[in-house]
Amino acid sequence: MVEFKDVSVTYNSSGVDALNKVNLKINDGDFAFVVGPSGAGKSTLIKLVLKEIDATSGTVIVNGFNLKKLRRRKIPALRRTIGVVFQDFRLIPTMTVYENVAFVLRVIDAPAKYIRSRVPYVISLVGLSEKAKCYPTELSGGEQQRVALARALVNDPQLIIADEPTGNIDPALSYEIVELLKGINECGTTILMVTHEHDLVRYFGGRIININKGSIAFDEVVGGSASNENK
Ligand code: ADP
Repeated sequence: MVEFKDVSVTYNSSGVDALNKVNLKINDGDFAFVVGPSGAGKSTLIKLVLKEIDATSGTVIVNGFNLKKLRRRKIPALRRTIGVVFQDFRLIPTMTVYENVAFVLRVIDAPAKYIRSRVPYVISLVGLSEKAKCYPTELSGGEQQRVALARALVNDPQLIIADEPTGNIDPALSYEIVELLKGINECGTTILMVTHEHDLVRYFGGRIININKGSIAFDEVVGGSASNENK
């Protein structure tokens, strides 16, 4: 669960008010698109959730952690409840698909036996079992993003933040990535996806949080054309 209560952020270096008294609640199990023009405050919102920055005022609660009160040494515990997918994939080029995903569990000292069963399972969820031994350079952009998704998922996070996940991939494959995220959401994981791609949002519909100039311009559930096609 993510809750913002009267959250404002002013960047000292520029004096810019990036967010202005934002109130927002994303419940467990929700899927929400975050849209808005460049400079609107979307990245600032994501950075707050990950506690990469602190709010200038207001309260941010993420997965039961009140971020204002959260001690520095507890930040890793917060971040273990969140999986993040970035626009530029951020895979480790010298590691295979399997190793990229397993690495997440190794750094938290997960038992070897668990790693051996969990990693192939998650790789199969994103449809890449055949490519487990490949290196990132041997994969298409869409496949690399699916590896990134497997990596975000492997630790079974409560929340996945996808920051422009389709920004660097073929438009046709963008739909597959969102379909995968929708499937993950149906299994109970909360998803927050930042996107510029209006076509995708129009197609899938659902909750759309539109940010403009640091404020929420609208926050509504909108029907998508995908559901009309199925009728
Ligand atoms: P978006 O992700 O929607 O493009 P951002 O959250 O990155 O928007 O930026 C919101 C506003 O805050 C912009 O005016 C931007 O220039 C400013 N801003 C973002 N990051 C910083 C920073 N580290 N220092 C100063 N100003 C910043």
